[in-house]
Amino acid sequence: MKYAIASEKVRRTFAKQIEKISGERISLCYQCGKCSAGCPVAYAMDYLPSQITRFAQLGMVEKLMQSSTIWICASCKTCSVRCPRGIELAKIMDAFRILAKRRGIVPKGQIAPLFDGIFLGSIEKYGRLHEMGLISKLNIASGRPFKDLSLLPIMLRKGKIRFVPEKVNSPREVRNLIRKVEELESK
Ligand code: SF4
Ligand code: SF4
Repeated sequence: MKYAIASEKVRRTFAKQIEKISGERISLCYQCGKCSAGCPVAYAMDYLPSQITRFAQLGMVEKLMQSSTIWICASCKTCSVRCPRGIELAKIMDAFRILAKRRGIVPKGQIAPLFDGIFLGSIEKYGRLHEMGLISKLNIASGRPFKDLSLLPIMLRKGKIRFVPEKVNSPREVRNLIRKVEELESK
């Protein structure tokens, strides 16, 4: 699939959307590549973080959102610390994920969006993570039901994982917080 450089209008609109969500200006990037050189998970990405910022500058939205990079980013902020232009690229990666989700674009084979949904579902229900539920749901949803099954007895024995979920005192307060964040994100 070919992707063209977008019109000036599309580029500006996209840059504004990113800025509104992240508070960061993509136009400041001058492509030095320091973010890519320091990114600890760049080896697993299909495009480097600096290439992704370039796609954003050029308004190549589809290409950017079909990339595995935005889902592989671990939000470690190494790029943000290294950037000589003071760009918080980790925040921009968050913005790309939010925009991709809004558009319903999830690249094939990416389990990060699945993980996000199941993780948040657990937090909404119990106010904290139920690890056993997360692992089993993620394995089933990603078509690998027996992944890491051999580790289960060890983790149970060491008390690292439980069959029965634990709840915080007031899961409703946590749910209200999540709703507020969702409202803010949708503005
Ligand atoms: S380090 Fe900053 S200026 Fe350099 S390519 Fe990355 S985002 Fe752009
Ligand atoms: S925040 Fe993401 S893009 Fe930046 S260095 Fe960490 S993993 Fe790489």
